[in-house]
Amino acid sequence: MRAFSCPVCSRLVTFESDRCLHCGAAMAFDPATRGLVALDFGTVAVADAATQAVEGRDRCANATLIHCNWLAPPTAPAVPVDGPDPNAGAPREALCASCALTRTRPADSDTEGLERLAGAERQKRRLHFELLELGLPIADGQEEPGGLIFDLLSSAVAPVTTGHADGVVTIDLAEEDDVHRVKMREQLAEPYRTMLGHLRHEVGHYYWTVLVADAGDEARLAEARGLFGDDTEDYGAALDRHYAEGAPDDWEDRHISAYATMHPMEDWAETWAHYLHLWDALQTAASYRVSVAGPEHVTDPSGTFAGRVEAPVVGRFPEALEQWLPVSYALNALNRSLGSQDLYPFVLSPPVVEKLAFIDRAVAAAAVPRPADVPAT
Ligand SMILES: [Zn+2]
Ligand SMILES: [Zn+2]
Ligand SMILES: [Zn+2]
Repeated sequence: MRAFSCPVCSRLVTFESDRCLHCGAAMAFDPATRGLVALDFGTVAVADAATQAVEGRDRCANATLIHCNWLAPPTAPAVPVDGPDPNAGAPREALCASCALTRTRPADSDTEGLERLAGAERQKRRLHFELLELGLPIADGQEEPGGLIFDLLSSAVAPVTTGHADGVVTIDLAEEDDVHRVKMREQLAEPYRTMLGHLRHEVGHYYWTVLVADAGDEARLAEARGLFGDDTEDYGAALDRHYAEGAPDDWEDRHISAYATMHPMEDWAETWAHYLHLWDALQTAASYRVSVAGPEHVTDPSGTFAGRVEAPVVGRFPEALEQWLPVSYALNALNRSLGSQDLYPFVLSPPVVEKLAFIDRAVAAAAVPRPADVPAT
């Protein structure tokens, strides 16, 4: 994640901010420019000449319902009419680019479901932002066949299985409940389980189709199968085997998680989610100019690490990854000092690093031209 500043007074705000706590300016995140824009000037009487509030733009229609802080798409231009027409230029129903991908959500009368939806959509906007940052194509499944669709459902109403099929990502909103999620994490002996992790994993299945299976690149598909295994392997049989026998004892030598051993497609999705975790964490570390200059035996085993984290660049991820290890050691040590568990409870074996590098190359090959980068502040 980038670090953001208030478009009016330049104080630090967050990706989730809808109002500046310092000057009171209302703001919204504009996915088109991947930056926060002012909707008004708050208590600042005369705006700086360099600052302009966006005019004629509204917040996402979900702003009140689930506290979405994104900007609705620009109103469709008015159709020129010959004579008076009350409908000319009327704004169409205005959900932001992220909320628009959600096809099904809890009913307005389901207060608990909506509370969990707000949490899940907040994480989904983070996911969406990162996909934009990576330059990945995001097809709207309700407009284009095979594109992305999210069904965010409450299992308090009917049974829900979190998963992915043909672009449709289904999420059980019960995972927003801390007690439920921790219980599941312990039951499955997972070191890490978050809503953001679920979203990253499930969207990974979609990008397997886009970047590998349907990319029309036989060499890439063959390389993927060499690294992750045969994606056509019987899924039902693999699932039964995994839940009967569990992961092999030495899974950490080749996989990022025990679940990744279940089927080649789960290995891809787990590694994909990890790629997004690391890319985001490195971008955040670079935005905050995090440096780890010691201890020497950690930061400089090969003399290559310069101390300060550089923002990751798509296609050059292996270099960025080298910077992550000293940062993760420092973060884990800090967490332990505060009596918490490790922030980064993972081991990156050489085969996992190879898989991450493959995903990075696949992302680089698919990256679409996008508006100029907003400068990191
Ligand atoms: Zn401000
Ligand atoms: Zn929205
Ligand atoms: Zn999966």
